Amino acid sequence: MGRSATPLSRGRLPSSRIPVGMLAALTRLLLDTVAPRRCAACDEVSNPSICSRCVAALNALPIPAVRRMRNGSAFAGFEFVEPVRAALHRGKYGGDRGALQELAAITAERLSGPRLFTPDAIVAIPLGPRRRRQRGYNQAAVIAAVIAEARDVPVVDTLARIRDTRPQTARDEATRRDNVAGAFAWTGSPLGGSYLWLVDDVLTTGATAGAAAAVLVQAGASLVDVVAVAAVS
Ligand SMILES: [Zn+2]
Repeated sequence: MGRSATPLSRGRLPSSRIPVGMLAALTRLLLDTVAPRRCAACDEVSNPSICSRCVAALNALPIPAVRRMRNGSAFAGFEFVEPVRAALHRGKYGGDRGALQELAAITAERLSGPRLFTPDAIVAIPLGPRRRRQRGYNQAAVIAAVIAEARDVPVVDTLARIRDTRPQTARDEATRRDNVAGAFAWTGSPLGGSYLWLVDDVLTTGATAGAAAAVLVQAGASLVDVVAVAAVS
């Protein structure tokens, strides 16, 4: 798919997709005005979302091995260990979008080697509407926007979650696959042989990403690699 011919919109998701008034985001805003900002990873006072000491610690962590998927490969910036886990948790549940953006920027750098070609476009794993309302934003979309900017490719937001799935925590692989079957639908134009990156925050068994990737391939993608901040080994 030639980039000039692509109907895909470029850049970040429109801000209208991020509802205001979300509790965690407001709490964050309130905390920023009355208390000093704290590092999302170590909780020490820090103006950047992740302090320089934690960024150094993050950069010293090993990059996980590439995982084979049905429709491509899965790459992650980190194993799901501390302080990655703490920073992701605050980014996901604590309204700290800056922590997600910092983790995404480091992940993009770590995966910038020759083993991962630049895709035609980037797709974030969508949240169901109920969970996005609860959280105020989709953490995968926040991460995808940063990675897309680093690679200078568009984000496509026409992968839809058509069914809210139960939380994937603590389920075995077969149960996870059943849980996500039929959860996604492609609502955009045909993908015409595109090479896509499917972005999520954490890769666990890969059942969710696998189900979403299958939908993208059905829509015409030729190859879908999964890119996550962290992978549970
Ligand atoms: Zn720190």
